[in-house]
Amino acid sequence: MSVVFKPLAPGATLGVLGGGQLGRMWVHAAQSMGFQTVVLDPDPQSPAGLVSHQHIQTDYLDSAGLQQMAAACQAATTEFENVPADALAQLSKTIQVAPNAHAVAVAQDRRLEKAHFVTCRVPVAPFAVIDSQEDLDAVLNQRAGISLLPGILKTARMGYDGKGQVRVRNPHELVDAYKQLGGVACVLEKMLPLKAEYSVIVARGHDGAMVHLPIQHNVHRDGILAMTQVWSGICDRALETQAIDAAKSIAQELQYIGVLCVEFFVLQDNTLVVNEIAPRPHNSGHYSLDACDVSQFGLQLRCMAGLPLNQPRQHSPAVMLNLLGDIWSADKLGSDPNFPEVLKLSGTHLHLYGKGEARKGRKMGHLTITASTADQAFATANQAAGILGIAAF
Ligand code: ATP
Ligand code: MG
Repeated sequence: MSVVFKPLAPGATLGVLGGGQLGRMWVHAAQSMGFQTVVLDPDPQSPAGLVSHQHIQTDYLDSAGLQQMAAACQAATTEFENVPADALAQLSKTIQVAPNAHAVAVAQDRRLEKAHFVTCRVPVAPFAVIDSQEDLDAVLNQRAGISLLPGILKTARMGYDGKGQVRVRNPHELVDAYKQLGGVACVLEKMLPLKAEYSVIVARGHDGAMVHLPIQHNVHRDGILAMTQVWSGICDRALETQAIDAAKSIAQELQYIGVLCVEFFVLQDNTLVVNEIAPRPHNSGHYSLDACDVSQFGLQLRCMAGLPLNQPRQHSPAVMLNLLGDIWSADKLGSDPNFPEVLKLSGTHLHLYGKGEARKGRKMGHLTITASTADQAFATANQAAGILGIAAF
């Protein structure tokens, strides 16, 4: 039994499970609207914990920590999809929780996620679930299974930023990859000829109302999001409509409350395929802080608190560059990248997450570039990339 939903006004206390950069930007947005915040994360130096009114430093499944959180706030959310769904289920006994534990459990497991897409009748990459050695043998012994090669073997749970994935060209590599991933439950997906990657962020309120951010064009490097571009015309109109409709039906079917990001592939033949969902604000939506009249974090708060959801409006074309730890270590003697030089360029918005140590591939911050035209935003983004030692786009 979960609690009956009650709208919350600014002044109430809201909580987030997870203390990473998404939690930090959520805390900033909550505080700017006058909410009090609680972060639950074991790391005393977590980016969100450092800026929150309260920081409960326990493991996500520590029942005393969860009880403390439930006592301290009126509503809670998650910023990290690998927070156990059970933690949300425990909180939902006494406080309102969005998204619900079931939706998070679906997003946490590629097998449930794919099944959900099939239920929603949105197109997915051809795939097979490999739960055991017998499943693997069946894939290897069937024509349908072999036709998934070359493919990508992805662990069903706990993957992010391309981790827990192995690209396999033939049956031999598939057998090796399954061993390499520890024989855990996996999904084998056919490798598709990608033309582009997009994402759509939808927000669904307690009353079922839905709004969305404009479609986002994403460029990955080494399995990690490197750049997002958002402006009118960045995607073919028909595909954009199809993606937004698919994202809404995925949210609707889950009875989802909160911000949901849906990742898509556009294939060489211009067909759209849904890749995966994230039950939270998403890296590809960070530009909305600087380029839209409501950000993805503002939307998350409105959903949690039952405040009105207005359709967001993007007021400037935008490019977002991820700032990975690489640009610190590449720099001489660990000195910071040349941010003052970047900030000389007009329309640059620097966001750093307060992480103490820069490691290769670690998301340290992002830079949003806004401009009056898409061409200008893109040109400035490349200038900034040049200054920061990021390869040109
Ligand atoms: P993240 O959490 O950072 O979004 P992830 O680790 O959950 O990533 P995916 O989104 O499944 O992983 O895959 C990472 C990237 O690998 C995709 O953005 C895409 O570039 C590529 N990729 C994944 N699946 C396929 C596929 N079936 N065919 C071609 N490329 C793929
Ligand atoms: Mg992904």
